[in-house]
Amino acid sequence: MGQLFGHTDPAPDAGWTDAGPRKGFFTDTSICIGCKACEVACKEWNQLPAAGAGEGGGLLGSSYDNTGALGADTWRHVAFIEQDSGRIAAARESGRRLVDLGMPTLSPAAGGSMDGARSPRVDALAAAGASDGIGAPGGAGAHAGLDVLGGTEGSAHPDTPEFRWLMASDVCKHCTHAACLDVCPTGALFRSEFGSVVVQDDVCNGCGACVAACPFGVIERRADGVSEPARQRPQAEAVGHSQGGIAQKCTLCYDRLTEGEQPACAQTCPTESIRFGERDELVERARRRVGQLHSQGMTEARLYGANENDGVGGTGSVFLLLDEPEAYGLPPDPRVCTADLPGMYARAGLAAAGMLAAAALAFARRGGRA
Ligand code: SF4
Ligand code: SF4
Repeated sequence: MGQLFGHTDPAPDAGWTDAGPRKGFFTDTSICIGCKACEVACKEWNQLPAAGAGEGGGLLGSSYDNTGALGADTWRHVAFIEQDSGRIAAARESGRRLVDLGMPTLSPAAGGSMDGARSPRVDALAAAGASDGIGAPGGAGAHAGLDVLGGTEGSAHPDTPEFRWLMASDVCKHCTHAACLDVCPTGALFRSEFGSVVVQDDVCNGCGACVAACPFGVIERRADGVSEPARQRPQAEAVGHSQGGIAQKCTLCYDRLTEGEQPACAQTCPTESIRFGERDELVERARRRVGQLHSQGMTEARLYGANENDGVGGTGSVFLLLDEPEAYGLPPDPRVCTADLPGMYARAGLAAAGMLAAAALAFARRGGRA
């Protein structure tokens, strides 16, 4: 029952007797530079078609964010969110309320990091690589990020007190209590030995129950009814995939993990904004990173997915956000549909007991009259 609700270690609870520590992601959006290398690496490794391919689509044309959203063809999606000074102040204030640390303001006089001359994201990159164990091993990733930005002072990076980009690489959350897996009628989704949630293409019948169940809107049916990339499609049609389209999403690069490799997106990220590893260690690292950002006055920093008491039991993919989850298109209080099962069972049991008691009473009265 631990798979449906309550505290659980997902892989052992799914029957893996030799499962190692649960694996996951920590995505630190404060050092994401929006290069989309993770998206490209994911598409390349998993042979995914370009977003909108086959529908006359291609690029959105309305934003640097040319893929728009997670979907059957986009298992990693880097969101670009533009914020003005009002929204930045609101984000900071909401973070202050959230953590109640009584942090100083960020005015230049107060020595805040948003001084207009040095980008806070540059500061964040530098801080993330500091020798406190939060940065990359050897600080390599953070230095790569600084190189990408072309240095620190006088950087052309667009963050200022009046404007900033929030860039965040979104992905399947690999929920502790995964609604997609719970509702799948064919068993096409399974819990891997790494604790991730994986779709078996050849078992999926394309019914779409998982699509409706996912509280994050991650999983999607491929519209053209095949799972393989375009250049292999004739072969895919030959093996008779459902014409309704099969459900697709990030597998946490299951094929790479079984070979001892890390996911393609994490391996590619030049700033190590995406980190892969043991979930518990990543959550610890994420908590230290939030504390570091708070101490720099960035009170809007907060974790998403790290709370094992949330509506999905916490997630395998943990995020450090710089605004409320809604700003990133994430639900503030995700909830797996099976979370209500204990209450439903209790009410059903109560109703059954009531009916039994009423029937017994009726028989007893009838017996008494006879
Ligand atoms: S985020 Fe959605 S698709 Fe991913 S494991 Fe959770 S319920 Fe399933
Ligand atoms: S883990 Fe693999 S499948 Fe998932 S987003 Fe990263 S590259 Fe794509």
